[in-house]
Parts: sequence; C-alpha cells; structure tokens
Amino acid sequence: MDERRRRYLQQLIELGETDLVLPARSEQAAGASSQTSSQTPSPSVVPSAQTSGARPAPPRPPQAPLAKPAAAKLPDLEPGIVAGAPAGGDDLFAADPLRPLATLDALVPVIDACRKCQLGHSRTHSVPGEGDPRAGLVVVGEAPGATEDETGRPFVGRAGKLLDDILKAIGFRREDVFICNVLKCRPPENRDPEPLEVAACSPYLHRQLELIGPRVILAMGRPAAHALLGVNLSLGELRGKLHRYRGIPLIVTYHPAALLRNPHWKRPTWDDIRIARRIYDGDSA
Ligand code: URA
Repeated sequence: MDERRRRYLQQLIELGETDLVLPARSEQAAGASSQTSSQTPSPSVVPSAQTSGARPAPPRPPQAPLAKPAAAKLPDLEPGIVAGAPAGGDDLFAADPLRPLATLDALVPVIDACRKCQLGHSRTHSVPGEGDPRAGLVVVGEAPGATEDETGRPFVGRAGKLLDDILKAIGFRREDVFICNVLKCRPPENRDPEPLEVAACSPYLHRQLELIGPRVILAMGRPAAHALLGVNLSLGELRGKLHRYRGIPLIVTYHPAALLRNPHWKRPTWDDIRIARRIYDGDSA
C-alpha cells in the first residue's frame, strides 16, 4: 500500500463513526488555504461500522483536484434576506446595557447573571459560547442541550461531535471558529425556544457578533436563521441563498441534531458548508 493511501486510511480511522468522510488531502487537515476550499472534492458517504453493523466500505482513492476557475465566483446563489441593524440613533445605543461590554469575556458574567426569562432559573450552567474571539466564521445553533447545560460549553454532545466533523470537512478545528447559540440557557426537555426567550436572549448574540465581526455566519437550523434574519420561513426557503446579517454574508443549513435524525440531509449540508468556506476564503460574496 503506498504512503498516500495509508495516510488516507489512517484519516478514515481517526474519523471514527462519522458519516461525513472527508477527502484524503492532507492540506485540508492542515487548515485549507483559499485554493483548497474551491478545489475540495465531494465527500464520500461511508456508513459507519457501528450504525450499519457492517465493515466500513473501502475508501475511494483521492480524487484529482479540480482546477480553480480564474475568477472564483460562488455557485448560483440567489440573494437572500438582508437583516440590518435596529433602527434608531445614538439614544438607542446609549441605552443599550451591552454596549459598554467591549469583549466576549466581559459578556460571560452578564449572561450568567441573566434572569430575563424563566430559563435563567431552570438551567444548571449558562452556555455563552466559545472559540476564537476574532474568528472569521461564527456558527450559531439553537440552544444548549443536556450535555451543554452540564458543562457550560456549546455543542459538546452528539450533535456537537457531528459539528466538529462538519467543521473538519471544511478545514476548521473547533478552536478556529466561534460557536454559540441563540439561547444561552437550556430549555427544559430541549423544547423549542419560545419567542419571548429569543427576544430576551438575542441581544447577547447580536453583541457577540458585533464584537467578533466575522467574515461569514453559519446559521444551523431554523431558530438560528429566524433570530438572525428576523423572518419566519422554512429551512427550504432559507437554504441555498446568500443572506446578509448587518452586511455579513450568512448561510443557512441544517442543524446537526437534524442530521443525526435524517442522514440524507448530510449531502445538502455539505453543499452549504462548502459555500460558507468559499465566502470565508474571500470568493465573491
Ligand atoms: N444544539 C444546539 O443548538 N446547541 C448546542 O450547543 C447543542 C445542541
């Protein structure tokens, strides 16, 4: 077995039970460059040994890289929703209690002390978010689940493991991006966030995004898209479009928990996250 193939197999083994099997190109793991992302071949979808009960299918040999077009353009992406800053002048901002908080760290104790809604009383830990405070990519989910509530960290349960794999598929480690949720406290029994909870909690998310100033936002699931874009549309209506949140390109995709329930959505998710990566890399957006 040649060295390239051995490395590829090794990478598959390291991926454990993930179904999102990545292309075996070492530069991707090393943090893909702008060229890498536009050349990234599609993933092979290999059922995991644990879920299928069968031995993993033999990996496909690495595909030859695609040539990068001279002027990189995103695939036909319809323009989507443009969500601006709230209307108002200086007075509005002067009255904003989060305005003086100049760092993500400064937000943490404020979020932890928050009792603006009932979730502040029922949760174990608040989950403000974590990652690179200067991240070019911010991932926004819905709300903490049980493991997140126990640990105070976002996306660390099963959905979180899948999110790690999704990020890895486009050349990011968790710590390269910033990961957070619309709600910073767990809704009991993981029920859907209520509108008043979103209204109470979303100023923290808006301030986080303002402080980070990412190049691209990945909204995972409808609640994240709704909170950021201020609309109530289906995921089908929101996907495949280039939205803007206060000028920042925003891509909507499936929530990792939805992918655990329905693995058929992994393929469209792969399409979405590649677009997010290309925007991050500076392809025209
Ligand atoms: N689901 C989310 O939306 N966020 C988490 O942090 C975990 C699961």
